[in-house]
Amino acid sequence: MVPKKKIDSILTGYDKDDITVATLCSHSSLQIFHGARKAGFKTLGLTVSHNTKYYDAFPLAKPDEIIKFRDLDEIDERVGELHDRNAVVIPHGSFVEYMGPKKFEELEVPAYCNRAVLQWESDRDMERQWITSAGVAMPRIYTDAREIKEPVLVKYHGAKGGRGFFIAKDYPDFKMYIDNTQPYTIQEYVLGTRYYMHFFYSPFKEDGYQVSRGGSLELLSIDRRDESNIDELYKMGSYDDLKKHGLYPSFVVTGNIPVVIRESLLPKAFDMAERIVNRSYELFGGMWGPFCLETIVTDKLDFKLFEISTRIVAGTNPFISGSPYADLIYPGMSTGGRIAKEFRDGLAAGKFIDLMT
Ligand code: ATP
Repeated sequence: MVPKKKIDSILTGYDKDDITVATLCSHSSLQIFHGARKAGFKTLGLTVSHNTKYYDAFPLAKPDEIIKFRDLDEIDERVGELHDRNAVVIPHGSFVEYMGPKKFEELEVPAYCNRAVLQWESDRDMERQWITSAGVAMPRIYTDAREIKEPVLVKYHGAKGGRGFFIAKDYPDFKMYIDNTQPYTIQEYVLGTRYYMHFFYSPFKEDGYQVSRGGSLELLSIDRRDESNIDELYKMGSYDDLKKHGLYPSFVVTGNIPVVIRESLLPKAFDMAERIVNRSYELFGGMWGPFCLETIVTDKLDFKLFEISTRIVAGTNPFISGSPYADLIYPGMSTGGRIAKEFRDGLAAGKFIDLMT
């Protein structure tokens, strides 16, 4: 991981009145550039093979400049060009995924995140340790498949977007479909409704919902992911019948739907987010900025948290002009806009450097 000292020395050389907000041209970049432009920052798109003509269709979200790289490794070789522009990068799901968490950790450009979080997020066991030791409930794990007594979801490690996951009702079902050549985890299948809650934690904001370690927690929006084919599979008949025909569920995200949760669930949602933030500081120096809690609510109105995304998620994209929650804090503001506001506030308070690793 690039030492924080190295990042601090790069930032010390930056002209703080001329910061450029940079990110990879994909995922939530329209929202990030739109928010940064509104806050008066220069914007820089980083791209490899991606066709960037679509930005012409969205002039308010088009970056001021685009740099095309041979491949993502070349960013490393050309970091000087980013330093020359006083650039800070905003990680999003595709940026970290395409580059790989290890390479991202080594990128010698100030990044708006704590890079130490990447290891805790990308290792399922470490992520579970973080969540459970924070006192937040997760779906149960089975270490012995013979003990399966309820529907479970079998997750192959590294199965992107849930491809190849399968649901087993009991042990014989599991034995029939398991591919023992790949590592996997067996998780209780939580029956309920999914909510992907987009929080933002500011370590230095002094009003709003204060967390016990200091700083302020905001809920900016919530989405539910449209997942293909699981969301439509029920139309084709019984799941067991479909398996006989070689049809299995997949959980590939194809879209995002805005949702709100019943108001009485909000205290539980904030409690969970606060615990996750507090524990992140105890374990690895903290998680700040945007993050998403991926949850399922059961019919007992209990949350089960199955994953944390430790950065801006694509589920925030429906909320470019605000949300039922953001509008009660900053009317009309997106998560991309909130990031830019944090930069402005950080610069004004002399704390910008603390936001970067
Ligand atoms: P991604 O990296 O795209 O977020 P992933 O491969 O890490 O996906 P998960 O996010 O763990 O996979 O799960 C993918 C989907 O499977 C979830 O969005 C949800 O619909 C479903 N899911 C995950 N865990 C459970 C569970 N324990 N019970 C019921 N459904 C689940």
